[in-house]
Order: sequence, then structure tokens, then C-alpha cells
Amino acid sequence: MTHQAIWNKAYKKLKESLPDHAINTWFEPVVPVAIADGELILEVPNQFFYEWIDSHYRETISGVLKDASNKKTKYRFIVSAKGQKKEIDDFKSTTKIAQPQRHQPPNINKQYTFESFIEGTNNEFAKTAAQSVAIEPGKSSFNPLIIYGGVGLGKTHLLHAIGNRVVQNNPASNVVIVTSEKFTLDFVNSLRKNRTIEFAQQYRNSDVLLIDDVQFFRGKEQTQEQFFHTFNVLYQAGKQIVMTADKYPGEMKGLKERLLSRFQSGLSVDVQPPNFEIRVAILLDKAEQNGLSVDYDIIEFIAKHIKNNIRDLEGAVIRILAKSSLMNKEIDFNLVKDVIKERVGLPFTSDLSIEDIVRKVSDVSSVPEKEIIGKSRKMELVEARQISMYLCRDIMGTSLNNIGVYFGGRDHTTVMHALKTINNKRRTDLRLKKMVESLKQELDITFV
Ligand code: ADP
Ligand code: MG
Repeated sequence: MTHQAIWNKAYKKLKESLPDHAINTWFEPVVPVAIADGELILEVPNQFFYEWIDSHYRETISGVLKDASNKKTKYRFIVSAKGQKKEIDDFKSTTKIAQPQRHQPPNINKQYTFESFIEGTNNEFAKTAAQSVAIEPGKSSFNPLIIYGGVGLGKTHLLHAIGNRVVQNNPASNVVIVTSEKFTLDFVNSLRKNRTIEFAQQYRNSDVLLIDDVQFFRGKEQTQEQFFHTFNVLYQAGKQIVMTADKYPGEMKGLKERLLSRFQSGLSVDVQPPNFEIRVAILLDKAEQNGLSVDYDIIEFIAKHIKNNIRDLEGAVIRILAKSSLMNKEIDFNLVKDVIKERVGLPFTSDLSIEDIVRKVSDVSSVPEKEIIGKSRKMELVEARQISMYLCRDIMGTSLNNIGVYFGGRDHTTVMHALKTINNKRRTDLRLKKMVESLKQELDITFV
């Protein structure tokens, strides 16, 4: 079989087993180029792409290739020469000495950088994609890039981080960063003053256009129309567009179909609520930034109770500081408890327990609770058990040992394996991803 035939068959199998967005993003751009020394050579557009596909789909690809050719077929990726040349050119151009200076856009937040953005499983994809477009604006297939997700999860932070990095790498580039609210206001004002041409120019001259919270365009047809034109002009000129939104573009209501389909032609990445460990990392960081020194126990305590978003975590740190200095009190457990009570509004007696998690998973999966915490290794039971373990760690930060003891006296390596399995599956298995997310949401809402 030729390289093309093998890949065609494999691609068909991938399509059967992976969600559309994964196929469009990661497999459509792959080009089979040859079979050399018994290895199938697959070309991918750039280094970032290569790293992502290789670390997330290696086994999946091996599997489908085996099915496609009825034997184990080795393969390797190469990065397209165009992509490599571009990297070299970029390197050359950033090392040039004299460059016209342009000032940083006035409304960019200099604190929001990639360096100050804490990475975890909840946001690593979004961060990597953001970094990638910041290095090669307009050049990857991630155009437009859309970062979507709930409130306070770092979308605006990432958007500004892209702007900061682009200006840092190339001070001459024209970065325009606005909220969609500001875009709308500018547009309406330009209409009033008969200055729509200037309005259009201002945006269409940008090299990188960063638009925050595009859900604000909902129902504003004329503004959408303007934005659609701006978008097309920039897109066709190979300029980078990055947007943030509260929802996956496919689920946005009140935006015109043709705008949505433009949005979907690039890459959409989500930011998820942080898990326990990331909450701890963020709190430690924010505490340090604010000159707050507290015991680790207290940090864990806050991370256990404030779960939904990062803005709330920051808010808690600031309130603790304020309360301590205003009331001239030491920062101790009592003070922290008071602050958290004010923020979450409930006494802690309703705190979540492992039993609650197991009960909920049992409801959703129809696997009896007894089986979830038992010893059987039947496939359908194992998944429910692994999800329960994952949620205990993720929501409550339960120690690996304690999880192991509770779930049939297993040791911590088994627990670690379970966490890893679910983490990996969440990336490739849409059904499981949705299930875990809705379980998390229900548990968090009931027990915050
Ligand atoms: P969103 O735009 O998604 O509502 P923001 O980007 O405004 O959220 O984030 C809210 C606050 O939390 C900001 O102060 C931001 O700096 C901080 N933040 C969010 N995510 C992170 C992160 N991963 N690491 C550090 N700080 C973060
Ligand atoms: Mg925001």
C-alpha cells in the first residue's frame, strides 16, 4: 500500500473514533509524504503542532495505523520546511538591531504575562496555543484563536499575555486590544459622527487584533457586520486575530451564522476551573505577590473551600489581607474562616465528602456504590471508580493514600494511575470529558 492509501484508511478510522473538532484541528493538516525505511512519514505544519499531536495522540495513531495496514506500522512526524524556515526567519528578524519603536498599546495590562500565568491541566492547552500565536502571529493554522470558558478563569489574562509578548518580540507591530464592548462603542460613536471610515481604518491597520468577550456582540447585528468585515480584511492579509468568549463558538447564540463559521475556522481552546493543586499553586503565588505570609495549612484550607475561579481566589487573599490590617489581627484560621464564610456564604458543615462523590458518580454511571469502592476490575466498574478517585483529588485534594484506602485498600500508585488515565481520556474522549465536567459542576454547586 502507498503512504497515501495507508493514511487515508487510518484517517477514516480516526474520524470514526474522535470528535470532529479534534479531527479538524489535529488531523486534517497532517500530510503523508512517503514511506522510508518501513516508516510512514507524516508532515505537520509546525513544531508546536508536532509536540501537541505527538504527546496526545501517539497511541491513537499507532492503533489506527495497525488497523489500516493489518500490521504494526511505524511512523514519524516531520515539521514542514515552510514552518521551519519561518522559525529561522523569525529568529533572524528578532535579532535585527534597529527597529522602529512603537509604544505598547495603552490599554494593555503589563501584569498579565505568560510568566505570571500559572499553568495546569485546566489551562495548558489554552496557554500553549496562546504562546504559539504570540510567537508566530498570523502564521499558524490557529487563526482566529478563540479562548473560551467561564468567568475568572484567565481568558483576559491570556489575551493580554499574547499582546505583551508580541510587542516584546517585535515593538514595531501594531497590536490592538479591545473589549468587544469598546469595539461596539467606538463603532456607534463613529456612526454618530460620520467617521466610520476612520473607525474601520483604526482596526484594519492592526497586525494583531485581540478582542475580549465577543459574547457581547450578541444581538448587535450592525456591529457584527462591521466586525465581520474587519475580520475578513485582517484574516486575508494574514494578520492574527484572537478572541475570548464565554462559550464554545458552536454554542453561542445571537451571533450571525457567517460570523460563527468564521470563528470556527481557526482553533478554539477552553479554560476550565482549576483543580485543587492548581488552586494551591495560585494561592501561594498570589500570597507571595501580596506580601502575605501564611501557613501552608491555611492555603490548603482556602483552596478546599474556594473552587470556582481564580478571581475568587485572588479576592480571598486580598480580603484576608484587608481584614487583618483593618482589624489589626493576626492571620490565623479564625480570621480566614470568617473571610471564606463571607465569600461562600455557607457554614462548612455541608462540606463535601468522599461518600458524596461516590454517590453522585453512582447515580450518573448506574454502577452501585458498593462496586465503585470494591475490588472488581470489570471495565465498566473501573471507569466509575477512576472518575470517583479523580474527583476526590480534583475537588477536595484528598491525599493519594487516603483515596487508595477508601477505594478498596489500593496503594497510591494505583490511584496515581487512575488520575492519569482520566486526565488523558478527558482530552480525547468527549463523552468522558462532558461527564466529568457536569459531575464537577453539580458537586461544586451543591457543596461549595
Ligand atoms: P476571565 O477573563 O476568564 O474572566 P481573568 O483573565 O480576568 O479571567 O482572570 C481573573 C484573575 O485571575 C486575573 O487577575 C488573572 O490575573 C488571574 N488569573 C487567572 N488565571 C490565572 C492563572 N492561571 N495564573 C495566575 N493568575 C491567573
Ligand atoms: Mg475576561
